Amino acid sequence: MASNLKMVSIFIIFTTFLCTKAMSQCEDATNNPCNNKSKALPLKIIGIAVILTTSIIGVSLPLITRSIPALSPDRSLFVIVKAFASGIILATGFMHVLPDSFDMLRSSCLADNPWHKFPFAGFVAMLSAIFTLVVDSVATSVYTMKNNSVAADGDEVVFGDQVMAVAGGGGMHFHGHSHCQQKGAIGQQLLRYRVVAMVLELGIIVHSIVIGLGVGASNDVCTIKPLVAALCFHQMFEGMGLGGCILQAEYKTVKKVVMVFFFSITTPFGIALGIVLSKTYKENSPSSLITVGLLNASSAGLLIYMALVDLLAADFMGPKLQGNIKLQIKSYFAVLLGAGGMSLMAKWA
Ligand SMILES: [Zn+2]
Repeated sequence: MASNLKMVSIFIIFTTFLCTKAMSQCEDATNNPCNNKSKALPLKIIGIAVILTTSIIGVSLPLITRSIPALSPDRSLFVIVKAFASGIILATGFMHVLPDSFDMLRSSCLADNPWHKFPFAGFVAMLSAIFTLVVDSVATSVYTMKNNSVAADGDEVVFGDQVMAVAGGGGMHFHGHSHCQQKGAIGQQLLRYRVVAMVLELGIIVHSIVIGLGVGASNDVCTIKPLVAALCFHQMFEGMGLGGCILQAEYKTVKKVVMVFFFSITTPFGIALGIVLSKTYKENSPSSLITVGLLNASSAGLLIYMALVDLLAADFMGPKLQGNIKLQIKSYFAVLLGAGGMSLMAKWA
């Protein structure tokens, strides 16, 4: 899975690189008095270090809290933290990635036909949400079939027992797998959590690299400093959202470290890539607008679907929250807090 992630991101970077090279550019005002290449470079390098650190802190925060007893998965606080994380992911899709995609694909730098004649961003986001549903349902049914045949052989499949507290507390009515054996259902739930964490990381990566690219390619000393500060909060917050999902996937330590590392490196990597490509990369060239705009649209559909279906609905319709109105209300506040905070962040990045 980790190597798949790597391959996909390499592909994304490669296409962005290819498409931005040697293409006509939409001229924007380059006579900005703030432009100073030699002064901008040290700022960007400091930015890389600071963003890397804050990303690691953000994504590790929910994982470290694991050692606090009040945050074990069967406790109420865990559910609230998760709701907060889901709110962040939802706002990332709705407030960051989708509007970016609309801006890019409707940009005045693109040809009137076809880009201004049809809302491509919404269309691609919708298709991506449907596609995510297809992958979700097909993967689940394949796993169910496989799992049933394993159970028929008499082999026991044992997964982390913490999930039992979340998934096994009575009715397994959400996602409709009540026909499964309890143990199979628990394994399936954990597998879902794992797939969700992986796919979320993938959906977030596109946005993280693109905002990094913007900083790296810019030589505007007046905007770099506040932008780096905004990106620190951005990555920390988004990291908390992803960290919450990694937490419930119950990966082994090595895999957790890989996921933390991979998320933390994306924005700094984007900045470094932007510095290297700053001669050829133009944010406003039609090819980069189209490539990045379409990538953003597909990750928006994915993030919105996952946040609503796999994170929020799965929890709020699950037995734990259905049996506890008070906890439900607290969790809704947590969702609003996470979504609100991430929405605020959209003002800057
Ligand atoms: Zn953003």
